[in-house]
Amino acid sequence: MFDLLNLPGIKLVDMYKESGALIFVAVAGNSEKFICPNCKIPMHRHGTRKNKFSDIPLYIEPVRLEVQRPRFRCEICKKITIPELSFLDHKRRATKRLVDVIRQKCLTTTLRSLADQTGVSVNTVKNITHDLIQDLKQTVRYETPIIMGIDEVSLAGGYRCVITNLATNNLFEVLEECTQNHLKPYFKELPDREKVEWVCTGISPPIKRCFAEFFPNAKMVIDKFHVVKIASEALKEEQMKYQVQLSKDYQINVKKSIRWMTLKRPENLTPAEHKAIVRQQIPELAFAYECKESFFAIYNEPDKQHAQIAFEAWKKSLPDEGMEPFKRLVKTVNNHYDDIFAYWDAPFPITNTQTEGLNVLIKILNRLGRGYSYEIVRAKTLYSAEARKVGSGIRSGNRKVEYGPHIPTLLKQAEIRNLN
Ligand SMILES: [Zn+2]
Repeated sequence: MFDLLNLPGIKLVDMYKESGALIFVAVAGNSEKFICPNCKIPMHRHGTRKNKFSDIPLYIEPVRLEVQRPRFRCEICKKITIPELSFLDHKRRATKRLVDVIRQKCLTTTLRSLADQTGVSVNTVKNITHDLIQDLKQTVRYETPIIMGIDEVSLAGGYRCVITNLATNNLFEVLEECTQNHLKPYFKELPDREKVEWVCTGISPPIKRCFAEFFPNAKMVIDKFHVVKIASEALKEEQMKYQVQLSKDYQINVKKSIRWMTLKRPENLTPAEHKAIVRQQIPELAFAYECKESFFAIYNEPDKQHAQIAFEAWKKSLPDEGMEPFKRLVKTVNNHYDDIFAYWDAPFPITNTQTEGLNVLIKILNRLGRGYSYEIVRAKTLYSAEARKVGSGIRSGNRKVEYGPHIPTLLKQAEIRNLN
């Protein structure tokens, strides 16, 4: 029979179909002589053994090999042995080439569809994926970012710590938890951590505590987006307060214009939306809106001194009574004063500019990765071959310098997968 299999040491003798798979029947050559490793005498033929192994799909159907091999037995110690087949994976009932195909595809397709295509169980695909991840962990290394972004995000059923390279816009690492117990040992072992110059992060005590200890040459800056978000939330809180009072007394269009005002920045509002209704009906809310806007405007100041002056002026503009959410914001800024105003010390504005892109990416990953463990979601993202190509490939000595997967490319890929 024509050798469809192209596997050394076996010969195809028959094929048939069984429950959605092609079964190839093959026999192993029995010309070899076996010497017992214990007794050093030749072993004798002792029947045959038949085993099934999964192989790469053919004609879009899963393939199983049914291989018959001779058995040999030692007359003295009764040891039984069968000839080894070099093309088999040593850990699984599968050919090496099938394991290779699964390794190549498992990070870019779903484990379920790989299992369906190959006829092996989802668990086997999972195990092969985990072996691959372990190998990648040992071999893949990204350059430690000089300008590092650290964010806490909800991913794969928990709060994870996402580390990015803000200078190159690459993903650097996704740690399982954003707690000191996870961060400390990780940062302690991080190569070149003395090269980190800036760390941009949210208002998170665990990161702050690790930071001082492990990044001796870095300055910390609290991400602008985390700070202005508090102002947006303060306005929202005020809005809720007034909306409750409104419900019966005012017309529906008052409500509507509040929503317009609070959602949109002034440049997007028509003059009518901006002024007329809300300012007349609820001046307090119009004032809260302006408070939010003038707080945002602090970040437009050209230098630290002007920003600090603008903050002081903003603080004074708050009334003695009410506006509690904004007064809490004052407290937060005062508590993290140096790290917030460090924004103006950097040679260029350091923000998690791609945070927005990253947040969209995390949302899509959570949707796509439903049912996947943190480990697999991390690997699918962090080891994405296509996204790793962008901006990498510079050689330093013998080593190829890599910065991690490029975030916009990851986002593009995730969007495509999300549509399919
Ligand atoms: Zn023996």
